[in-house]
Amino acid sequence: MKAKLHHARRTAPARAALCLALALFAAATGAAPAARFSRVVIDAGHGGHDKGAATGLTYEKHLALDVARRLELYLEEQGIRTTLTRERDVFIPLPRRARMANDARGAIFVSIHFNSAANTGAEGIETFYNRRNPSSLILAHMVQSASIYKTRAESRGVKHANFHVLAENTRPAILVECAFLTNRGDRYRALSPAYRQKMAEAIAMGIIQFRREG
Ligand SMILES: [Zn+2]
Repeated sequence: MKAKLHHARRTAPARAALCLALALFAAATGAAPAARFSRVVIDAGHGGHDKGAATGLTYEKHLALDVARRLELYLEEQGIRTTLTRERDVFIPLPRRARMANDARGAIFVSIHFNSAANTGAEGIETFYNRRNPSSLILAHMVQSASIYKTRAESRGVKHANFHVLAENTRPAILVECAFLTNRGDRYRALSPAYRQKMAEAIAMGIIQFRREG
């Protein structure tokens, strides 16, 4: 996915304020009933002829599938059932991806991407949701918060977007941008299996918190 260019980088005080806001958000949602879902549909972005963001031989589609598989493994170990929209390097049309979540009874949908921007200074993690489904916002905050906690990466926050896979989803659905392949530091992290494992575990932590408190 391409980031919008006008997103300013957050300063340290802004980041502290964000952490506080997320803590208050978590406290506010603490008393809410648990979110019921029986399956996580994990969507590795792009695939096949659609490479996604690319710098040199680093393709978004490969990194997204790697995080998706790590997330699948981690969630299954926690006793949470999963479905991958793709298990290998193939192209799946966007409507079919959303349909897989809509057709699975009681599923939530998590799409995994890596970012790019013309501004090579753009860095960090951001999570998208669609306003049509308010519970997606709670899931997005929990995943974004866990991702920043786990990786210490720059937080670009939770944002609304009309991406097809989110807009067509009737279930809680989010899209996570794990790092910018156009940023040198982010790209270095994205190429590290340890970073991708951290991202997978962080997304799982957010999902587990959503099930407990969402
Ligand atoms: Zn993408």
